[in-house]
Amino acid sequence: MALIYRVIPVTAFAQNCTIFMCEDTKKAAIIDPGGDVAKIEAALAEMGAVAEKILLTHGHLDHVGGTAELASKHQLPIIGPHKDDGFWIDALAQQVQMFGFAPVEGFAPDQWLNDGDTVQVGNVELNVIHAPGHTPGHVIFYQPEQQLAQVGDVLFNGSIGRTDFPKGNHDDLIHSIREKLFPLGDEVRFIPGHGPESTFGQERRSNPFVSDHRG
Ligand SMILES: [Zn+2]
Ligand SMILES: [Zn+2]
Repeated sequence: MALIYRVIPVTAFAQNCTIFMCEDTKKAAIIDPGGDVAKIEAALAEMGAVAEKILLTHGHLDHVGGTAELASKHQLPIIGPHKDDGFWIDALAQQVQMFGFAPVEGFAPDQWLNDGDTVQVGNVELNVIHAPGHTPGHVIFYQPEQQLAQVGDVLFNGSIGRTDFPKGNHDDLIHSIREKLFPLGDEVRFIPGHGPESTFGQERRSNPFVSDHRG
């Protein structure tokens, strides 16, 4: 029951779209398909993966821009984020202008996620953790046996998510990282929404925003 993953940087923001594939069944979830759908499809084919669903960490365009196209082409359900990010998804047309992207098709998630939910990828179960701050409805996906998390724009290798967007909240973000992510364990490896992977332990030691010695 192993999970295999691949990170595909997409869009001008080098957003990390991640494919989580169940090794037994080859069924896969596409997390945060921000755009560049052809690149994502090529990665699925290389992995021998059969996409079964789209998972979204939050409603920002660079994480969701390819969602409508992928969902309709491959008949995939759209799952997540938390409903508090609905206002971002409803405002995709404005986000296109804000981020300077080519227009994308709108969509509505088939299922919103809540803290404590689980989502299935083949035989692999992922835990959903609500981690507001960067956006109010941001969720992360955590696989406990493999100690692997996809954390979107909550935490980065050496940095944290921006909180200067509408309904962003710095205190909420710090609380999410310290009280919900770090307690999962120092060994946990995470894939951020942008940039290189890290572990929670490394960020507790050296992240200038949330390290233990920063108080
Ligand atoms: Zn974001
Ligand atoms: Zn982002």
